[in-house]
Amino acid sequence: MPDQGGSLFDGMRRLNRWALQSAARELMPDQRVAWCLRRLGFDPETRRQFPEVWVMFAEQMKRAHYKHLFVCGSVWMCPLCAAKISERRRVELSEGLENSDFYFALVSLTLQHWQGDKLAGSLDALLHARHRLKSGEAWQNFIREFGIVGTISALEPTFGVNGWHPHSHNLLVSRSPLDAAAVHAFIFPRWLAGLLECDRSATSERGVHVRTARSDVADYVAKWGHEPRNFKCPSKWTVEHELTKSVSKMSRGDQGFTPLDLLQAFNAGDDHAGEVWQDYAGTFKGRHQLQWSRGLRELLGLGRIESDMEIAARADEPAVLLAAVTRAEWNVILGNDARGELLEIASSGDPERVLEFLHELGVE
Ligand SMILES: [Zn+2]
Repeated sequence: MPDQGGSLFDGMRRLNRWALQSAARELMPDQRVAWCLRRLGFDPETRRQFPEVWVMFAEQMKRAHYKHLFVCGSVWMCPLCAAKISERRRVELSEGLENSDFYFALVSLTLQHWQGDKLAGSLDALLHARHRLKSGEAWQNFIREFGIVGTISALEPTFGVNGWHPHSHNLLVSRSPLDAAAVHAFIFPRWLAGLLECDRSATSERGVHVRTARSDVADYVAKWGHEPRNFKCPSKWTVEHELTKSVSKMSRGDQGFTPLDLLQAFNAGDDHAGEVWQDYAGTFKGRHQLQWSRGLRELLGLGRIESDMEIAARADEPAVLLAAVTRAEWNVILGNDARGELLEIASSGDPERVLEFLHELGVE
């Protein structure tokens, strides 16, 4: 196992992401994720496909990455792109919050759900109720009265004993301290009314959850871009999987399983987890994960919002060419499912080790 680019654990986690992306490809063969970091991209100048994949080495970070490959930029389907996008968004938001004198409330919104509820229906109800909550005169009055200068809304799906459970986390940013009970008292009736219009419902305790402690908010933001806990120990999944055989029978209390957990289960042989993930991927495709209210980024000192694709496609650190791999050689790497491993080895910055590894794979 390679030892560069952080701890052994970091390396395993990175390798796991490649394996999860392969699972996503298998489950969604017609989507962009199926080509992501596999197919050679097109040179924007010549409009021809790049002839080689370049393995780049970033000295400062002791990390390697590929250049000239197509990237999908899918925050919902692609474990590799999602890791990069969420991490960038996390760093940016943390900086924005740290450097501001504002106050915050984290409002988590969800709805009651039952086994057998279709995810698409639950998601539609959630989005309808969220839109309704933040529309009209009453919302404008609420914003004025509480000194709220903006909101950031995020969508998040989890899968639990009762099936899919979408929720929306909303960060309210204000000029004065926010009282959790008062925020809840305003939001809950409006939230419930929106859900009832879609024949859905929510209880006061679970439907709307408001946290105003700075530590809670910081904790939430810090989790962005971090994998779910079973990534810390991929083998743990296998044991649990053996015990229960299917995600539909699993319970993690209120926590539930994330889409990445489901890919992990699929890779461990759980076909049902794969079907559940397909349902999720088809339903969330094209949805915005994050929405910033107008003007808030400027208030937090952040620049223009970058698209998911821009973040996914960008090389963040300066890097040098370590090895050039022809299309035929790249096919051998793909055939051996060795994209992740090659990068781990390239993280040594030693071209000899890269060549040695390619030889082992059968590349002349
Ligand atoms: Zn991707």
